[in-house]
Amino acid sequence: MSTLLQVKHLKKYFPTKSGLLHAVDNVSFSIEEGRTLGVVGESGCGKSTLGRVILHLLPATEGQILFDGADISNPTKAQLHNLRRNMQMVFQDPYSSINPRQSVAEIIGEPLKVYKMCKSRDEYNRRVRELMDIVGLPERYEHSYPHELDGGRRQRIGIGRALALNPRFIVCDEPVSALDVSIQAQILNLMMDLQDELNLTYIFVTHDLSVVKHISDDIMVMYLGVVVENSSSKELFGRQLHPYTKALLSAIPRAKLGVRRNRILLKGELASPIEPPKACRFAPRCPYADARCRSCEPELEEVLPGHFVACHQVREINNL
Ligand code: SF4
Repeated sequence: MSTLLQVKHLKKYFPTKSGLLHAVDNVSFSIEEGRTLGVVGESGCGKSTLGRVILHLLPATEGQILFDGADISNPTKAQLHNLRRNMQMVFQDPYSSINPRQSVAEIIGEPLKVYKMCKSRDEYNRRVRELMDIVGLPERYEHSYPHELDGGRRQRIGIGRALALNPRFIVCDEPVSALDVSIQAQILNLMMDLQDELNLTYIFVTHDLSVVKHISDDIMVMYLGVVVENSSSKELFGRQLHPYTKALLSAIPRAKLGVRRNRILLKGELASPIEPPKACRFAPRCPYADARCRSCEPELEEVLPGHFVACHQVREINNL
C-alpha cells in the first residue's frame, strides 16, 4: 500500500473581531491508499474545516498537502481543475449541496458534462445509469427530483455525483448524521462496498464514534483545532490514552444488554479557539490538569507503536 495523502503542519485561521480563530492548528497526518481515516470530535473542533482545506474549498493559512507524492498546497487553476477529478466530497445534507430543480440523472451527470467525460449522448446516458446502479438507485428514479426522495436516496445521489469522475479520494463530511439509524447502516455499507470495488480512500468526518468504528481503519481525534490522539481504529477502541478520547468513548452506548459503560462527564468551560494560549486546550475540562498543562502545549508523540497522543501526563494517567 502506498501513501495517497500527506498533510503537514496544516493551519486554517479565520479573522474575527476578537482575533484569529484557530480552526485547524498544526495538523499533520497521512493516509494509505484504499484506507479510511475517521476524524472525530465535538462540533467546532475543526474536523469539517480540515476536510474543506484539503480539498481547496477553503484556502489554507499555512502548511503542506501532498497528493500521490505531488505538492498540491498551492495549485494553479488548471491543477485545481484536475485535482477535482481525483478528490471529491460527500456532504452531510445532500439536499443543500444539490440543485433541487435538477432531476436525479441531471445531478449525477453534471460533473460528466463539466469535465466532458463522455463522447456521445448515449455514452453519457449509459454512464449516468451505471452510476445510479452503483449507488443502488433504481432506473425509475432517473427523472425524479430530490424532494420526491427520502434522505437515504438523496445521499445516494450525492455519492453517485461524487463518483462520477472516478475519484481516488473522497472527504465524507458527516454523510449519515442526518439519516435514520436503519438508513445510516445501508449508506455506510454502500460506502464500504464502493471502497472495496473502486479502491477509494476516505476521510470520514463525524461526531459519532459508533459510526466511525464501523467504517474506519484509523482514527484521529480532534479537540479545538488540534489532534489529541491518532491510532488504528482497533487500537483506539481497545485502549484510549487521552483523557478527552476516554470521555468521548464513554458516551457510546454498549450493544450488550446489562453491560454499562461508566460515562465520563466533562465539567468546565470549553477554551476559546480565538488566539488560544500556549497551553493544553483541554486543560479547563481535564480532571488531571496541572500547572504544566496550563502553561505548555503538549505535542503529539508516539506513546505506543503507531499510537500518537498529545498529553503531558499520558504515561502517568495510563500507567505506561
Ligand atoms: Fe489533561 Fe494535561 Fe493531558 Fe491536557 S496535557 S489532557 S490538561 S493531563
